[in-house]
Amino acid sequence: MPIFRKNHLIFLVLIASIYGCKTTQNQGTAQFKHSFGQTIASRSTPPEKCEEGTDNETQRLYIRAITDHIIKNNPNSFRGNLDAKFICVRVAKMNAFNANMNPVNGMMTVFKGVLDPKFQFNTDADVAAILSHELAHFTMGHDINGAVRTDNIPPGYDVSREQELRKLVDEARSNREHFLAKKSRDFFSLHAQELRNLVAEVNANMAPNTPVLGLRNGVIEFQKAMNQTISSQEDLPAQEAMAGFDTYIIGIRNYAAGNFPDLMSPETLAKTTQLIVSREALDSGLDPYDQATHQAWDTLKEYSLPREQFNEQQADEVGFELFLRAGFDADVYPNTFEKIYQYVVGKTNCAAITSESPAPGRLRTDKEDRIHPDFCFRYWDLKYAERRTHQKEYEPLIRRPGILNLPATEALRVKLAQ
Ligand SMILES: [Zn+2]
Repeated sequence: MPIFRKNHLIFLVLIASIYGCKTTQNQGTAQFKHSFGQTIASRSTPPEKCEEGTDNETQRLYIRAITDHIIKNNPNSFRGNLDAKFICVRVAKMNAFNANMNPVNGMMTVFKGVLDPKFQFNTDADVAAILSHELAHFTMGHDINGAVRTDNIPPGYDVSREQELRKLVDEARSNREHFLAKKSRDFFSLHAQELRNLVAEVNANMAPNTPVLGLRNGVIEFQKAMNQTISSQEDLPAQEAMAGFDTYIIGIRNYAAGNFPDLMSPETLAKTTQLIVSREALDSGLDPYDQATHQAWDTLKEYSLPREQFNEQQADEVGFELFLRAGFDADVYPNTFEKIYQYVVGKTNCAAITSESPAPGRLRTDKEDRIHPDFCFRYWDLKYAERRTHQKEYEPLIRRPGILNLPATEALRVKLAQ
């Protein structure tokens, strides 16, 4: 299951289609934005638990500065719901070229790879193109996690069918989770004493305030969760204890193999191995809910695809307007899709194969990304179609001289280049 599904996030790059978009009227044109676009009507609370921390504060401040600039210049765009306090900016340590937005809570994550010189997103405008697409997902309220907004769907799309499928999935998943929780409880009841002994040994061998402090805290949490699991019939403690057990085992293995070889005796290591084997034995065998869950999930995924493809095109087009209102150079926006195409797909030069007409194919056919339109289609849409369709609105924005870099980010850019 692709990770973006699990997290209910909407990605910029990694996700296209052999499965035709069910909309027929507007396919391949740039009508979406103004026909259906409405932002979430009221939004008055900042995101919960916004932890903006990262391993590289300069990178985060840089992304934040450009984000704030886009927001500040779009106070009345799309019902005026773009407000810096609703958006949380994080920079993920992973060196991938990607970004995502949780349209429900405003959590935007930009992967560090976006700032990697090899992708040549060298100017603020390059980065702003990506951020604008993500901010558009937020301002349009693109929620792929269940709450389908009826004012934000392609024509001819049957929302009630999607909701029916979603109900099936939720039911199957909850049954499956219950099943797994029961298994976990069995495991902990069977092996309670051995696990307690192991935990006691680790505790006894660990000096406080050593680099293994993280493991110590993990052990304490695990012990609590395990005890609660054995005494409770609830699913959640069992699942938490199982997750804790996995973390615990990984920790033990690392410390035993690495810097702390004397942490555990050979006998204890043997016992640990025995426990892992028991756990795997318990996990094997038929999971009666697993197949049903995945089948329902796959059906839903196929069904909701046209709506999500529609959301992505809408995010490209709404993002373009946010980008232009922020004063950035109009040509940079389509060019970013060409650049991503070069690096992600390995093909080059949308400009050479794409002229104003005819339109290139809209949907991608590779398995990795069926949600986003083809990169050269995205280039073409923003370079020609969208501008032509909304000529009156765009003309004054496009005609003014475009910005490449903001004065406000100069110091940060110098620091990043070091
Ligand atoms: Zn997107």
